[in-house]
Amino acid sequence: MFGPAAIENLPPSPMVAKVEFDRDGIHHGFLRMPYSRDDSAWGSILIPIAVAKNGDGPTALLTGGNHGDEYEGPIALFDLARSLKLDQVSGRIIIVPALNYPAFRAGTRTSPIDKGNLNRSFPGRPFGNPTEKIADFVTRDLLPMADIVLDYHSGGRTLDFLPFAAAHILDDKRQEAACFAAVEAFGAPYSVKMLEIDAVGMFDTTAETMGKVFVTTELGGGGTASARTAQIAKRGALGVLRHAGILKGAPEKRPTKWLDMPGDDCFTFSEIDGLIEPLVDLGDAVVKGQPIACAHPIDRTGVEPFTYTAKMDGVLAARHFPGLVKAGDCIAVLGVLET
Ligand SMILES: [Zn+2]
Repeated sequence: MFGPAAIENLPPSPMVAKVEFDRDGIHHGFLRMPYSRDDSAWGSILIPIAVAKNGDGPTALLTGGNHGDEYEGPIALFDLARSLKLDQVSGRIIIVPALNYPAFRAGTRTSPIDKGNLNRSFPGRPFGNPTEKIADFVTRDLLPMADIVLDYHSGGRTLDFLPFAAAHILDDKRQEAACFAAVEAFGAPYSVKMLEIDAVGMFDTTAETMGKVFVTTELGGGGTASARTAQIAKRGALGVLRHAGILKGAPEKRPTKWLDMPGDDCFTFSEIDGLIEPLVDLGDAVVKGQPIACAHPIDRTGVEPFTYTAKMDGVLAARHFPGLVKAGDCIAVLGVLET
């Protein structure tokens, strides 16, 4: 957590925005981060950014590639940055399709430079590693401009999700209601009132602490996108921007099923290394005590599999993706459908 006083004492970010934020028009540029290294002494990292501004109005900040192996956000945002029509905009849209750009280029969750997990690096440090510098720039330079934030995630290489948009349960119920209204406008097949198991250092937490309307997603996974989840991502950005009054037109009303994740009982973690056999698929209903997956020991034959059972009634909202699990891996997440 941080306060305004802590922010004032920090030196300015070494990152430079080579794009216009305040002039009407559609601008394509870069966030340039100096990065001196063996193969480029005075080199830098160029993170693509687009800004569309037309007159006065609210500002939306849209980000993908917070984790580098999650693709629906970058697909939707590279597409939006290319196809936006200025006469449809009132206000400002800031688009960063691949926020942790080194991770995105490597196709990995964390940055290959510093192993930084951007969504555990907020609010960031201007004198930190490259991942912390990105977080700091977002916190101190981008977020203050934004009224509403949409940060895309998917399961990445190790998880696969039912496609949902989500916001967090917040102390400020007015802010929470505004976040859930924006989730509804995203119009994913599922919408989630999220309880984080690991909220410290997240972009979400920093933006919410600053009072922003914040929407996140989990739109699939397995380190790729599908035709269906890419379409959900593209439609979702338009829905949120129309809902915020930044894009012309009313959001298309799409049916969504609300899912709750009420507590620790939602999560199942593997207790052994093994070969995972799913016993239910994403979206399937389960009852408390029902086997949902088993892990076969792989170092010998003739050993019973380790069976994992549902700790509550619900539907399978996420599952481990690769076929092999290690002890401690998250193998299943259950949600409860609101009736
Ligand atoms: Zn992610």
